[in-house]
Formats: sequence, structure tokens, C-alpha cells
Amino acid sequence: MQDYSPIANLDWSFRSYLNRRLAEKARHFDHEDVPDYAYGMDYELRRKLDAIPGLHSLAEKLNVTIATTALQELNRTAVAVTPNQFPDVYEMACTCARRLGMSVPNVFIVNNPVTNAGAYCADDVQPVIQINSGLYERLTPGELLTVIGHECGHVQNNHMVYQNIVSIIAGIGLTGVGARYPELAALLTQGTTIALYTWSRAAEVTCDRAGMICCDDLEDAYRALAKLMYGATFKEQEIDYNALETQLEMQMGNIVRYDEILDEHPSGVRRIMAEREFAACGVFYAWRPDLLKPDSLQRSKEECDQRCKKYINLTSKSKRR
Ligand SMILES: [Zn+2]
Repeated sequence: MQDYSPIANLDWSFRSYLNRRLAEKARHFDHEDVPDYAYGMDYELRRKLDAIPGLHSLAEKLNVTIATTALQELNRTAVAVTPNQFPDVYEMACTCARRLGMSVPNVFIVNNPVTNAGAYCADDVQPVIQINSGLYERLTPGELLTVIGHECGHVQNNHMVYQNIVSIIAGIGLTGVGARYPELAALLTQGTTIALYTWSRAAEVTCDRAGMICCDDLEDAYRALAKLMYGATFKEQEIDYNALETQLEMQMGNIVRYDEILDEHPSGVRRIMAEREFAACGVFYAWRPDLLKPDSLQRSKEECDQRCKKYINLTSKSKRR
């Protein structure tokens, strides 16, 4: 009887592994390492921020300081996630890293009831993701996976360079980033401040897409955002998308929509609607062919970005199409 092993002819060499990884990278990243899932406005606006004299160099220096400090502070005050400590979260970080094709970030669980998470990263500083205890306790494992994926998106897209400045202007931020260097905010013109906030909201769309690429079920991605709106303090709620669209209609027909000009994130309703657009984009299924269903739409990235813009742009009027 002849021995047969189904893996006998597989090439296990490091060169073969490397070639597969490089081919995968070439498929999803351009020559500047921009992932194909990124929301176009994110990089478009970032190029404009880069062109403001002195801003990028200041932001980079600040980012290295903050990322280094955050790692040390979290190591002093929070619990580091390891294969033996919060192994469920560790496994999620590994899953996200594998699905996005990046290295596994350091993750810390912080004693903070606010349902929030954050990321820190800079050149030559190990990426760090902070998960607040309030988030860990209120989200299901599937929802938490998408949030960790979202934070991995911030790392993969190097968002922290400008995100720290936005936190300082807003006077917020995890591990007290916003409380530091308050005098820096005074150096910025009002136009630069608004440009930074506008970019920040576009960057969040990119990271919501990263979270979707990491999820096991798209509903987890939508529900996680809904929970950030209603707090998830009572029990699980079904999402009524028609009702959300009605909420957004009302929001867009009112002057109050401009309150978002100085918000780091788009409103929760806008984010859910933008996510649903990405769920009908071919790029999403190029990353996650296993989630493709017979009735899934696969629009082009350009069309998807255009449709998202109508949800994210504050001056858009009617959302219902
Ligand atoms: Zn974010």
C-alpha cells in the first residue's frame, strides 16, 4: 500500500512563505504602502495637511514622544495582554494582525468604564492598543474583534502622527494625551484645526473598514458602533437600519449637523451607513472572500468612496437614495 500525505508536496521553505507574503502585499498595498481599503478622503486630506509648513515635522516629533510615553505608562498602570492573560483578547489581536497582514500589536486592558479604545504607534516604537475595561465588559467577543481591527487600522495607516494633535486640540485622549502640551493647540490657525478634524473623521472611516476586514460577521461591526451610541448598559439591541436612516435624515436637515465640525469621529449613524457601503465593495471581498454571499454587491472602490462621501460629508443634504 502506498503512503500518501496531502501535504507531502507543499513547499514549506522560508523563501516560498516570503514570496507568498510579498505577493499578498502587492495585491493590497500601493508603492507608498497605502492599503487599498483606505477611504480616499483620508489620504487626500492627509496630503493637504502634509503641505502645511512645519506641521508634519512637529506632528512626527510629538508622536514619537507620545507613543514612547504611552507604552511606558500603560505598562505601569494597566494589564498587558499575553497568551496567558486575557488570552481571548490576545487571540483577537493575532487574528486581526493576520487578516490585515501586519505584526501583532501590544494590547493593554485599562481600568476605565468609558466604552473606548485607542492606539499608539510611531517609527521605532512598538504599536500599542489600549482597550478600556468598559469596552471589554460591554461588547461581545465578535464586536470586540472589530474594535481591535479598527485600532489595528490606525496603526497600519500611521494615523497617530496627526491624531495626537487632534486629541491635544480637543483636550481629550487616552492616557491623558490631550492634557499634555495644551500650548500647542494655540499655535494652530482655525483653518488648520478644522482641516485636522475633517481628516480625523475620514481616517475613522478607513479604520472602520479595517475593523470589518477583521470581523467574523458584518453585523458585529455595525452593532459595535451602535453600542458606542447607546452604551450597551442594558442588553443587546437589534439595529433598525431604516430608523437610523431617518435619524440621519433629521440630522442632515438641521443646522446641528455642523456641531460635528469639531468632532474627531463622524456620528455613529454616519459610520454605520458608511460601513454598509463598504460591505457592498469589491475591495472588501478581495480581503475576505469567505464572507461573500450570492447576493453581495461588489461595487468599485471609487463608487464606494463616492457613496460614503455622501454620508460623511457634513454639507450633504439628503441621504436616502
Ligand atoms: Zn478610531
